[in-house]
Amino acid sequence: MDDRANISLADLDREALFHPVSSIHDLQTKGPVIYTGAQGVEVTREGGQTLIDMGAGLWCVNVGYGRPELVAAGAQAMQDLSFQHFFGGASAEPTIRLADRLLGLFNETVPGADMARVFFGCSGSDANDTALKLVIYYNNLRGLPAKKKVISRKGAYHGLTYAAASLTGIEGYHTAFDLPMPGVLHTSCPHHYAFAQDGETEAAFTDRLIVELEEMIAREGADTVAAFIAEPVMGTGGVFLPPAGYFDRVQQVLDRHDILLIADEVITGFGRTGAWFGSETYGIRPDIVSLAKGLTSAYFPMSASIVSRRIWEVLEGASAKMGALMHGFTYSGHPVGAAIAMANLDLMEAEDMPANAARLGPVLLEALRSKVGDHPLVGDIRGVGLMAAVEFVADRATRARLPVGAHKLVAAHAMNQGVLTRALPFLPVTSMSPPLSITEGQIDEATTRYARALEAATPEMLAL
Ligand code: PMP
Repeated sequence: MDDRANISLADLDREALFHPVSSIHDLQTKGPVIYTGAQGVEVTREGGQTLIDMGAGLWCVNVGYGRPELVAAGAQAMQDLSFQHFFGGASAEPTIRLADRLLGLFNETVPGADMARVFFGCSGSDANDTALKLVIYYNNLRGLPAKKKVISRKGAYHGLTYAAASLTGIEGYHTAFDLPMPGVLHTSCPHHYAFAQDGETEAAFTDRLIVELEEMIAREGADTVAAFIAEPVMGTGGVFLPPAGYFDRVQQVLDRHDILLIADEVITGFGRTGAWFGSETYGIRPDIVSLAKGLTSAYFPMSASIVSRRIWEVLEGASAKMGALMHGFTYSGHPVGAAIAMANLDLMEAEDMPANAARLGPVLLEALRSKVGDHPLVGDIRGVGLMAAVEFVADRATRARLPVGAHKLVAAHAMNQGVLTRALPFLPVTSMSPPLSITEGQIDEATTRYARALEAATPEMLAL
């Protein structure tokens, strides 16, 4: 073993593992970027460089890194009851209290919400798999075995397990894996800036999307369509805010055809949009809500699927004659995760983080507009709460696309300047979604570094 200790970590990484959503070729040739620590909004790289993490990990470290309250809650929970499964009726206090708290929080903050029960998992992807299986289960119980298709949207990101990757509407995640699976359809991406035609207003764009949705349902037959899944704000696809009136109109269509609405709040949950949930920000009344990431601020892998009363009543009503609900995971309801989630919610409430996101969102947008808004390759700067995007174009007037990869150069230069941003895979977009604990001063510093990075990357972007 001793000789292994002398191998650099980068070489050991190359020899020992392979990474999610990473180029095997690049990693084998260039090696990984290794991080050694993190505190507050900053992460530290091997060698000692610190960077402001404008991504909050993958949109998930909502309360910031290294919070002692969460560490203490996790340690205590491990000491008390390091594991309890929930199969066959077993249960444990932290999880019971968390479920009750989540229902209260969602129903109190989202107008019209009537959520009834929570089911726990481990990741955003499995929360969406659970949602999909519950939709199928629900319609089987209702005696509607043909009503099973799910409509998602192009540009959507719902995770990467087999079912969740099928719901994801980005081709790059599909082709090499023979996805999407049958029964998943994708309607148009509601991103006005890139996809509006001939000067269409947002309202006219929404009208067109609604007609398309109606046509898709008519073509498939409403008796075959079970659910529609949507992120309140599309994240990984490019930070797309819904156009004017969009969710209201979508809900009317779904209601008319007895189609359930699944809100994937894996990113938008827990303060990101400047409210506790994106459903509040956009007036969404979901039947199922998928939560993960900010639930524990990524201190523990945990997800939750919340179901509405109308679904619960069918499940409960049929339960006497059904066998057990044959779905769940070893770690469903993990008491350590639940205790950490409770401490995380305590901290978010004590520091009123949704309000912090609401207050600082406009500060972040204004900083980006004043520092990079006039750049000839910057087409659009947008955001809601602490979820922002800079979209690059080859030509601001025509909004012509830049070659893929141009925006990745900015992210690389940003790292050199000491700021982590994300270059998204679907469109040339930099996303920023810092911890909700970030300060105005840190936003100023991060955006100044980002502006310097864009300046440095410009000649290479133009040469592509
Ligand atoms: N849904 C959304 C909206 C997401 O952004 C993500 C992750 N970025 C997921 C689902 C999948 O979550 P996970 O990676 O934890 O499976």
